[in-house]
Amino acid sequence: MSQAIHEIKRRRTFAIISHPDAGKTTLTEKLLLYGGAVRLAGAVKSRKSKQYAVSDWMELERQRGISVTSSVLQFDYQGHKINILDTPGHQDFSEDTYRTLMAADSAVMLIDAAKGVEEQTKKLFHVCRKRGIPIFTFINKMDRHGKEPLDLLDEIEKVLSIKSYPMNWPIGRGREFKGIYDRATSKIELFTGTGHGATIVPTRVGDLSDPAITGAMNESVYNLLKEDLELLDLAGDNFDLDLIAKGELTPVYFGSALTNFGVGAFLDSFIELAPAPHEKPSTAGIIRPEQEEFSGFIFKIQANMDPAHRDRIAFLRICSGVFHRGMTVKHVPTGKNIRLSQSKQFMAQDATIIEEAYPGDIIGIFDPGIFRIGDTLTEKSNFAYEAIPKFQPEIFARVHLKDAMKRKQFVKGIEELTDEGAIQRFRHPDIGLEAPIIGAVGILQFEVLEYRLKHEYGVDISLEHLPFSLARWATGNNLTPQMLKTGDNLVVKDDDGNLVVLFRNQWSLNWEMDRNKQVTYLEHPPTQ
Ligand code: GDP
Repeated sequence: MSQAIHEIKRRRTFAIISHPDAGKTTLTEKLLLYGGAVRLAGAVKSRKSKQYAVSDWMELERQRGISVTSSVLQFDYQGHKINILDTPGHQDFSEDTYRTLMAADSAVMLIDAAKGVEEQTKKLFHVCRKRGIPIFTFINKMDRHGKEPLDLLDEIEKVLSIKSYPMNWPIGRGREFKGIYDRATSKIELFTGTGHGATIVPTRVGDLSDPAITGAMNESVYNLLKEDLELLDLAGDNFDLDLIAKGELTPVYFGSALTNFGVGAFLDSFIELAPAPHEKPSTAGIIRPEQEEFSGFIFKIQANMDPAHRDRIAFLRICSGVFHRGMTVKHVPTGKNIRLSQSKQFMAQDATIIEEAYPGDIIGIFDPGIFRIGDTLTEKSNFAYEAIPKFQPEIFARVHLKDAMKRKQFVKGIEELTDEGAIQRFRHPDIGLEAPIIGAVGILQFEVLEYRLKHEYGVDISLEHLPFSLARWATGNNLTPQMLKTGDNLVVKDDDGNLVVLFRNQWSLNWEMDRNKQVTYLEHPPTQ
């Protein structure tokens, strides 16, 4: 078991949270570069160009220049095993990101120095905060003109209500961004490279008494650094590892993912401070990663990852024990035993068969068609990890099949995409599955639905958009659809037969709640 403990301790599993365009793709690629996983970062072209990017696999993503799906990237860095849970950048897929955050032990919050704390970052931050996971902040694009670092810290504290502790401080701004000052060691790292970003940037390390270091700064840069540091020492929060672990204080790092400045310093500090996989609550109490019995939970399901094979991959976060290829595990919700013979790990676009994996790792396992998001797998026990919350759909459409001959593929496609969690399916009590009503959080999800049904299932559909924005599960005694129906709502059922009412807006929900006090409207299915 000591081998397993060693493996657990060296793992760091995290996700990057940010607003689109803050530089997540760029930073991910640079972390891979520093991890030696990609020789030349330049070789991994931005997905906004015509080339493939690391985490893209759908044609649609390349067309639209957005990352729709998440994958997991693993690399070694200074004796540590890093797992980056890649998350979709587009806000229409934020619930996919929420689920992925359930599998992360910490988060890196990436902020564009010119834009500060943006909307999407705020939402994702709150999900992390609720889970109490440590949040590390990387302030990006310091090579460009942006807000003053002190103002950015202030903004983080005010907008997000979290304390911050700058681990380092930028020397110069914009084009004059020359290096960083490390507050723990008082050492200065000057970037001596050109900053094209294709290779690890060369640096020179010294302190403020080193003339070679101070000589490289002009007087105003030097004075500004001194002033800022004095202010921080006087007025800033103290470094406190306990508060970091609880997610109440965020360590802040400055840099530029584009030029690589500050990326190495961030990674070195992150592997020291970020938590290794730790215990998790379950229905049978706390489960420790080092316990012998293998266990984990599914946080994501993806159909047709490989267009050559009609397969479904479930992504499993290992929480305890050791995974060995070919082992038999128990699918707790059904009690079925499943042999995991072909589990894969995904590195960039290649999937490799893995022999062994440890807590903190994510493995992709073939789904025989029984897995749902949130399911627990164990060796023999019957416990379950915490449920993964379902997203709230905000837009709705009725889906019509164009060619009735394709009905079978249509039902299968909708069912698989529902299991993936990409959409939520409802049915009209009288119509059934012929023309299901689909709920999603963003309009782009409908585009993906249309695209995937066509390309993966050969089915053409048309969408009839519906004027609703809220779905509520209705509970009460002997409810019937007739009792819930009003002039401007729609009563449907979910896959488990629960009654769901679609409302136009909050106002009509409130009106209905006032009118009919026998009914309780829930945001989630009654069993969740
Ligand atoms: P994502 O949407 O968060 O994945 O953002 P990308 O990584 O695709 O970056 C968005 C844009 O910002 C691209 O044009 C990048 O080249 C640019 N970018 C990313 N990091 C930096 C940086 O540190 N400095 C500058 N100047 N541009 C950056």
